[in-house]
Amino acid sequence: MIFLVLKLNIQITDQISKRTINQFMQQQKNLFAHYKQPSIKEDSYVTGLNLANSMKGRELVPFIPINGRQVNFYYCGPTIYKKFHLGHARTYLGIDIIRRTLRDYFNYDLLSVMNITDIDDKIINGAKLANQDFLEYTKIWEKNFFSAMESLSIELPDVITRCSDYIPEIVTFIEKIISNGYAYNNNGSVYFDIQKYLADGHTYPKMRPEINVDQLQEGERESQVNKQSEKKSLNDFILWKASKPEEPKWHSPWGEGRPGWHIQCSVMASSILGNPIDLHAGGIDLVYPHHDNSQAQAEACFNCDQWINYFIHLGHLNFANRKMSRSLKDFITIDEILKKYTPRQIRLNFAIHKYDTVMDYSEEHFEQAISIDKTYHKFFQNTQIYLRDSQITGPQKWMQNDFQISNLLRNTKQVIHIELLNNFNFPTVIDAIDKLINQVNVQITNKTVRAPLVHSVVEYVKFILGLIGLNYQTQNNNSSDIKLIMTEVCSIRDQVKLATSKGEFEAIQNIVTQKQFQYEKNLSNGIVDCVNQFQQQVLVASQDKNKQLLFQLCDKLRDEQLFDLGIKIEDKQQVSIWKQYDPQELKLEREQQQKLIQQKEQIKKKEEEKKKQEELIQLEKSKIHPKDMFLTQIDKYSEFDENGIPVKDKNGNELSKKQNKVVKELWEIQNKIHNQYLLQLQKQQQ
Ligand SMILES: [Zn+2]
Repeated sequence: MIFLVLKLNIQITDQISKRTINQFMQQQKNLFAHYKQPSIKEDSYVTGLNLANSMKGRELVPFIPINGRQVNFYYCGPTIYKKFHLGHARTYLGIDIIRRTLRDYFNYDLLSVMNITDIDDKIINGAKLANQDFLEYTKIWEKNFFSAMESLSIELPDVITRCSDYIPEIVTFIEKIISNGYAYNNNGSVYFDIQKYLADGHTYPKMRPEINVDQLQEGERESQVNKQSEKKSLNDFILWKASKPEEPKWHSPWGEGRPGWHIQCSVMASSILGNPIDLHAGGIDLVYPHHDNSQAQAEACFNCDQWINYFIHLGHLNFANRKMSRSLKDFITIDEILKKYTPRQIRLNFAIHKYDTVMDYSEEHFEQAISIDKTYHKFFQNTQIYLRDSQITGPQKWMQNDFQISNLLRNTKQVIHIELLNNFNFPTVIDAIDKLINQVNVQITNKTVRAPLVHSVVEYVKFILGLIGLNYQTQNNNSSDIKLIMTEVCSIRDQVKLATSKGEFEAIQNIVTQKQFQYEKNLSNGIVDCVNQFQQQVLVASQDKNKQLLFQLCDKLRDEQLFDLGIKIEDKQQVSIWKQYDPQELKLEREQQQKLIQQKEQIKKKEEEKKKQEELIQLEKSKIHPKDMFLTQIDKYSEFDENGIPVKDKNGNELSKKQNKVVKELWEIQNKIHNQYLLQLQKQQQ
C-alpha cells in the first residue's frame, strides 16, 4: 500500500500525487465501510488501548469491549499432524504476550478460548501414511503441541475446544445456515452460497475487500474445469464434506461426513463466547480465506452484520526470506531451537520485533536477544546483591542521584504506557527498560542510590518483563541456606588464594580445617559435597606445598564444581561474589560463549591466513628486478630503454609525458622494494 503511494509519488507531479493519495485513502476507507466500531457506553472500560484492527485494514482503532472490563478472546489453535516449528512459536508466544498484557497491565477480565483442529485432510493423510489409527495419531501430535508450548512457558487458554467434541454443535450450526438460505447440500456435502450471501447485502470477504469474488472465480475455473463440480459457484466453500470409504466419519442429516476447517472456528468460538465476540487473533496467513470464511459463516448463522469486533494478526516469520511454513522443508522445530537457546532468549527474540510485522529468522537477532537477556540477568543479580548488602538502618536522605533515578523511573513508566497503548509496541518498551537499567547499574556500582528506590525500580522492571513472560527469579526454595554456605565458601576460597600467592601453606591448612560444612545434603543441592571435597583436596595440596595445584583447585571449584550446580563465582579485586542461576541456563550460556569464542578465533585465523597470503604475493613481487618488470607487458609496450622502462606503446608511438611519469614512478617503487628484498636476503645469508 505504502509502496504504491511512493511509486505514484515519483511518477507524477506533487499536486496530482496528493490528489491520488487522497483518492487512494478514500478508496481504502470505503473498502472497510462495513466495519462498525463498538460505541462507548456508560459502563465501558476505556483504557486508551489502540489495536491494528484487520477489520479496518489494520488501522489503529480504540479497543472498546462489549461488557465493561470483560474481554472475550478467541484465537486459532493448531492443526495437529506434525512437529511444531518456530513459526508456531512466534504466533503462540505473540498471543501469550498479548494475553498477559491485556490481563496484567490493562486489567481486563479475559476469557480466552483456543481450538484444536483434530479433524482435517492433512491429519487423515498423515495417519494413513504413518499407518496409525486416526485418533491415536491426533493424540500424539496434540501432546507434542502442548509440551512444546509448556517448554516455552506459554500459558494455557482458559478454554480448549477440540473439534471432535463439537460435532453436534457444528451440525446444528450448519442446519441454521441452510435454513437461513446461505448454504446448500449437494451429494452429502454442504457448501456456503456466496452469491446468495452477497445478494442479501452481506459483505465478503470483509478483511480482504480488494479481492474481487468474480475474478477469483475466473482464476479458479481452470483447475476445476475437469471436475464435475458440486458447487453452484466455484468460490463456494465447504462446510460439511461427505466422507469417502475408510475415512473417519461422523453422522449428520446429510449423510456420513466431517466438518470443513473454517466452520470449526465459527462454531467453537461462538459456542463458548457467543455473538458478537470482542477479540479474535491468529497468524497473518489465516486472514483469507480462513478468518473471512469463518466470519461469513457465523454472520450467516446469526443473521448479523458483525460477529468479530477486533481481529488482530501476528506477522510471518521468514526463514531465508521465505515464509517459514510447514510446506517448506527448511523449518526449525521447537525442540531443535531449545537445544540452542533458552526459552527466555526465544521470547526476547520475538519481543524485540513488533508482533504484527514480518520478522526474519537470523542468528544476529538471537545474538541481540542473548545480550539483552544477559543485561537483565545481571541487573537482577546486581540489585539483589545490592539490596542484600544495603542497610536500611543507614542514611536514607535523598541526594541528587536519587531524585534523578526517581524521575527516570516515572518517565519510563509514562513512555511504556504510551507504547503499550500503541498496539503493544514492545520493541520500544524494551528500549525504555534498557535505558532505565543502565542508569541504575551506574548508580549501584558507585553505591550512590538508596536501597528502597532500587527496590521500586526492580519491582517495576520485574512487572513489565513479566508481561513478556520473562522471569529472572532463581527457583530455589532453600536460598537462605545457600546464602549462608556460599558466603563462607567464597571467603574460604579467597583466603586460600591469598595465602597460596604468599606461599603460606600452614595458614591454608588452618583455613580449610577450621570450618566443616554439615548441612543436610538435599538442602544445599550438592554444594556441601563439593565444598567438603574442595577442602580435602586443598589440605593435601597444601601439605605437599603444591602452589600450582592449589590455584587449579580454586579454579576448578569456580569453573566446574559450583558452576554445574548453577553457582557462578566472579573474582573481583580482593573478594569474590557469587550469583545463583538455573544450572541448565548457566550451562547453555557457557556453550553460547564458547561458540562465540570459537567463531572469533576462526575469523582471526582466516585473517591471519589472508595476511600471510598477501605477504607471500608481496615477497614474490619484490623478487622481480625493476629492469624486468615491464618487459613481459608486450600487449602495452613495444620498446624499452636500458633500464627496462617503456618508451613506446604497443603501436610504436612514443609515450606521452604523463605516461612516462607513471611508468617511471612504478619503476622507482619496484626498485625500492627489490632493493629491500636484496638487503633482507643478504642479512639472512650472513
Ligand atoms: Zn480458526
